[in-house]
Amino acid sequence: MKVTVSDIKADVGSLAGHVKPHIRQIKAAERVLEEGVKSGTIYDYQVSRVGDDIHLVMLHGSGEEASEVHRLAWDAFRAATEEAKKLGLYAAGQDLLKDAFSGNVKGMGPGVAEMEFEERRAEPVVIFMADKTSPSAFNLPLVRIYADPFYTSGLVIDERMHSGFYIDVLDQKEGEVYRFNLPEELYDMLALVGDVVRFSIKRVVSKDESIGTAAVVSAERLSHIAGKYVGKDDPVAIARGQSGLPAVGELLQPFMFPHLVPGWMRGSHVGPLYPCSVNDSNPTFFDGPPRVVAIGMMVKDKSFVGEEENPAPGHHVPVDYFAGKEFDYARNLAMQIAVYMRSHGPIMFERLPEEEMEYTTLKSVLERVLKGKRR
Ligand SMILES: [Mg+2]
Repeated sequence: MKVTVSDIKADVGSLAGHVKPHIRQIKAAERVLEEGVKSGTIYDYQVSRVGDDIHLVMLHGSGEEASEVHRLAWDAFRAATEEAKKLGLYAAGQDLLKDAFSGNVKGMGPGVAEMEFEERRAEPVVIFMADKTSPSAFNLPLVRIYADPFYTSGLVIDERMHSGFYIDVLDQKEGEVYRFNLPEELYDMLALVGDVVRFSIKRVVSKDESIGTAAVVSAERLSHIAGKYVGKDDPVAIARGQSGLPAVGELLQPFMFPHLVPGWMRGSHVGPLYPCSVNDSNPTFFDGPPRVVAIGMMVKDKSFVGEEENPAPGHHVPVDYFAGKEFDYARNLAMQIAVYMRSHGPIMFERLPEEEMEYTTLKSVLERVLKGKRR
């Protein structure tokens, strides 16, 4: 049976800064998705969050870019926005760039990662939710997971992974997508994805056709849609694990290295990616450091399955992978790097280069200063 997992996410207002959604926003979104289950639009769902972003993780049978599923998510974010307005939360409705839904939330503000696949006998799915960064934050870990045998030993010892993967890369500036055949074209691909300002990995596909899509990333850029800086493109990645795909442990290992990512504070700074639990995902140090949370559930017979005793739609208890003490190592290292990077203040390269800042108000500051101070 083919199923689709969709994570549609947005920041529609947050509590006391860019920190966390209010519980009433979460409940409002859940009520809309509950109706979606009753009406048969989706099979199951789980609302989660990282920092100030609400993630609607949905399971359904309508394939990718299904209008009715996107409309449901849009309605859920509208309901969460209404709560934000009533409570006077910060940036209520920030990521909803249009007034009326028009068939697909892509291009309307929310981030979307979704994949349709044939459900295997055991189907673990990991959702990586990141805050205060951009879609390219997943470039480095995804290269390590799907193309580096020193990370994923399955690339060497699992016959179904031995021939490698296809990886699609999005050019954020031009909108073009390029497909690379890994490992043969690894160096060509790295020439692109090493540039985390312009390129981001969008999709990973198994060469075993019976498996299909292995991972997807929400790759739209809010600022490129709106034409100006309107908030951060905090991304989500979905990855399937095991049985011809990387083991879940192989999916998680690269996050022990808190690599530098763009998009911290005002979308204008560079910082380390800090792996943490959902509850620890409140960004409090200079609105950061950038966070990544990983939650895992099984997909079984039109349902998600977590640690709950009685699975019921919307009431799951996902595995919260980075909650464990193992990742204290990465968190401690990330905080040392975060303080080091912040010590540069407004001086590059803690501050992003100008090309990445073209949608901020720095341009008008520069124009005024250059004009007024010329001698
Ligand atoms: Mg955010």
